[in-house]
Amino acid sequence: MLAKLLPAAFCLFLFMPSAQAFEPVTAKVTENVYAIVGESGDRTPENQGLNVTSGFIITDAGVVLVDSAATEGSAKMLETTVKTVTDKPIIDVINIGVQDHHWMGNSYFLEQKIPVIALAHTVENQHQQETMNRMRLSSGIGGKPEDLKVEYASETYDGGEKNLTIGGVEMSLLYLGDAHFPGDAVLWLPKEKVVFTGDIVFNDRMLGVLPDISNVKDWQATFKKVAELKPEHVIPGHGNPSDWMTAQKNTGDYLDWLVAEVSKSLEEMEDLGDTVKRLSADERFNFLQMHEALNGRNIHQTYLQLEAE
Ligand SMILES: [Zn+2]
Repeated sequence: MLAKLLPAAFCLFLFMPSAQAFEPVTAKVTENVYAIVGESGDRTPENQGLNVTSGFIITDAGVVLVDSAATEGSAKMLETTVKTVTDKPIIDVINIGVQDHHWMGNSYFLEQKIPVIALAHTVENQHQQETMNRMRLSSGIGGKPEDLKVEYASETYDGGEKNLTIGGVEMSLLYLGDAHFPGDAVLWLPKEKVVFTGDIVFNDRMLGVLPDISNVKDWQATFKKVAELKPEHVIPGHGNPSDWMTAQKNTGDYLDWLVAEVSKSLEEMEDLGDTVKRLSADERFNFLQMHEALNGRNIHQTYLQLEAE
């Protein structure tokens, strides 16, 4: 009996649909600007690294997509999401981030002859982080780091500012300083007062100060520069779109807290272990998702960075 059942069971297993594909959510920000909110947790085979927030601008000439996701699979998810909102084609892709899930889906759009635009400074940093990005991404979604198809922007601009008008919409690509990754830039729409901040702003979940990559004081200074634009709408690198006050509460206040509290510990010659233990017990930022996993590590990293100054 078992012998007869086994082949049938085996076939059933083979033809079972693969785990449900992940579907990102769109959020309307202004009349012509939308956020695409990916998964809030880790990179998985189902989400193909789309655990980020990106977005798009509908112009008279077509759609400008900000960020290209992590892989061809997640780039396609972005394209499908855009199609649920507008019939207009994607005419340009803009890269603002350096971390894998913001730009490593470029090849999907370049193959369709859609230009990918970035500041040269962002691209230089993408090159420097490529090996690390490949490793981080493949450890989440599976497969070998060397099998990922990685392509860079087709149009790059030198300097820290590039003003563009696409389909009647004015936008500025700005490098305001390093943040989660060196080379992270923002896209600012002055008329709509919308800023796509990439990983300079984390909403809803706690940010991560990465060893050897994120400099907490630089990030704090860059965040304050973004505030000077006086944005009314923020499309962050992670989490839901919001107003600036919310971004300040979730990211700016936390960066200020890390720097101020750890600086006090160093002045008082408190050692690393005691600092991490004492500050981890502070529940002020426990409203942010992933705080259990990240807060202690962030305090630890901040201590090492400020101590080395
Ligand atoms: Zn990110």
